[in-house]
Amino acid sequence: MKKLQIPAGDPAGRIVCQQCGNTTNFVEVAENVLVTTYYMQNSDGSFTPEDNSTEIFGEVKFLCGKCGADLTRYHAHFLEMSF
Ligand SMILES: [Zn+2]
Repeated sequence: MKKLQIPAGDPAGRIVCQQCGNTTNFVEVAENVLVTTYYMQNSDGSFTPEDNSTEIFGEVKFLCGKCGADLTRYHAHFLEMSF
């Protein structure tokens, strides 16, 4: 059984990189992403994007934005706290 890890920062729940102490910059990396964009061609021949959708087929990683340490164990927490 996988236990959800909640970071023990200050205030509680704040993610702190254990390698470099970074608390501000984080990166989410998605593998195998399919991006579909729908375009409308205008009468002058130019195109305007109408809509797009993103589907993720691969793994999603959550990394420290400064040293690149793998913080994927906090990804679920990140999703809950991202508005
Ligand atoms: Zn770091």
